[in-house]
Amino acid sequence: MNPATLFAVVLLSVTAVFPSAAAQQSVSIPAGFRLEGDAVQGGLMIGYAPWSDKVTLDDRPIPISGGYFLLGFDRDAGPSSRLVVHKKRMRPADVRRFPFVMSLEVEKRDYDIQRIDGLPRRKVTPHPEDLIRIRAEGRLMRDARSGKALRLGFLSGFVWPARGRISGVYGSQRILNGEPRRPHFGVDIAAPTGTPVRAPADGRVTLVHPGMFFNGKSIVMDHGLGLTTVYIHLSDALVQPGQLVKQGDVIGKVGATGRATGPHLHWGARVRNIEIDPALLVEGMPQPLNGP
Ligand SMILES: [Zn+2]
Repeated sequence: MNPATLFAVVLLSVTAVFPSAAAQQSVSIPAGFRLEGDAVQGGLMIGYAPWSDKVTLDDRPIPISGGYFLLGFDRDAGPSSRLVVHKKRMRPADVRRFPFVMSLEVEKRDYDIQRIDGLPRRKVTPHPEDLIRIRAEGRLMRDARSGKALRLGFLSGFVWPARGRISGVYGSQRILNGEPRRPHFGVDIAAPTGTPVRAPADGRVTLVHPGMFFNGKSIVMDHGLGLTTVYIHLSDALVQPGQLVKQGDVIGKVGATGRATGPHLHWGARVRNIEIDPALLVEGMPQPLNGP
């Protein structure tokens, strides 16, 4: 499907999915406006509004650059979100049409319970001295995932970073050695140690860590407008902090470092502080969004 056709389908589905919102609005969708992806828990939508420099979702400001903006929906988002798109340089005739408001119904998902046993006791209930290290590593991750890059790497679209059996999915409630822990924010791809890990999209490396308590050897990438991804439990990292990578570049190798029962890649994705489902980037959004 070519991008123009895709946008037509997306716009049709937006109208179809939100008939009540469309009916309430006396205005039609403004020219040039595009919104791609699904409003679903864990999902990402890519918006394009070339005439705008201010967007809010549920009254929170959303960064916009070159007309592009990203909407992330967390694990428990919904049932609806309110998107408001303002217009810069308002003319008198624009007053009735802007700001453009759209009500997004967020599709609910069901999450399973994943039990993992046989983890080292200390990796589930860390010792007091481990907590200092865990907090320091948490700060490093937060800094690397603060999403400062304005370069729009996500426009390359996304491909799977590694091939293998999916051994863990986004959102599952985790019971580790019988103890409830935070949900699983990412997708696990089981593959032999040494399997290449490739950049799923263009971006900049913001962190390479030799070995974290939970995550083991780790890489963080920034794809622009607050979208960051992580690659953890690696056996090897082949990039440097600050390095620009292209989609398909080998960045590391699958391993079982940190809290892991066997070799696999944990792939996580976040929009600003919202954990989203990386599997939806590759399955729900196969087409990159092209410019005008
Ligand atoms: Zn995982």
